[in-house]
Amino acid sequence: MAISFSLEGKRAMVTGANTGIGQGIALALGEAGAEVVCTGRSRSDETVEMITEAGGRAVSEIVDLSDPMAGKAFIEAYDKPINILVNNAGVIRRADAVDFSEEDWDGVMDVNIKAVFFTCQAFGKKVLARGGTGKIVNIASMLSFQGGIRVSSYTASKSAVAGITKTLANEWAARGINVNAIAPGYITTGNTAALRADEDRSAEILGRIPAGRWGSAADMGGTAVFLSSPAADYIHGAILNVDGGWLAR
Ligand code: NAP
Repeated sequence: MAISFSLEGKRAMVTGANTGIGQGIALALGEAGAEVVCTGRSRSDETVEMITEAGGRAVSEIVDLSDPMAGKAFIEAYDKPINILVNNAGVIRRADAVDFSEEDWDGVMDVNIKAVFFTCQAFGKKVLARGGTGKIVNIASMLSFQGGIRVSSYTASKSAVAGITKTLANEWAARGINVNAIAPGYITTGNTAALRADEDRSAEILGRIPAGRWGSAADMGGTAVFLSSPAADYIHGAILNVDGGWLAR
């Protein structure tokens, strides 16, 4: 059988598709042939335009995950089959551990893990009910493996994303659903704006990246396409580091 990285005939939902890594992944999935359902708390018109200008198909839908059950409700109500789910939307709040507020804990945990789990649940339930196949790609982090600094809820949430990716893979691997994750390194998006604005931290981070540069949103696209494609049919519960070598150091 020929190896296929094509997503022709597939429909992919990406959360937080209006900007950053979500936009980079949506563009790559569109280029690989998937119709992309670009969701976000704001519209993804720019992403949709970029995909359609490149000859692909995409739509924009509002799904605000500050209600962590909104992704589940959206999938339950969506009347066309979704074959690929990319749980990308995420937030980060920074404060010293001794000052960390309940609001900053819940705000991050709701979007980064509670929404991820229940969106996966709704996706899995529909795929299993129609006896089809599906691919889930969760966006983890270096902080799925490391502790980070001043980001208690973010680290807790991303460590949980790694755990949920593995537990869902165990439940669904034999039932046609691949559940995997991408762990991006340090990527130039809104998520890292504060780090990059801090000259010392920024230089410290750059100096530790073997590739010698920060990653871009586009750097995440190829791995997302791969994990969404038939070429990854036997990959379950993997967390692929796309980090310029950060974790190898
Ligand atoms: P970003 O540019 O800040 O994008 C975050 C995305 O999540 C945006 O689309 C944002 O929408 C969306 N989002 C936030 N709250 C939401 C909500 N309540 N409902 C729906 N969407 C919401 O940062 P990014 O780097 O691309 O982040 C994407 C993912 O990669 C996150 O899960 C992040 O944790 C992860 N990640 C990033 C890095 C990095 O270095 N940048 C490294 C590891 C992991 P709005 O634009 O409307 O706010």
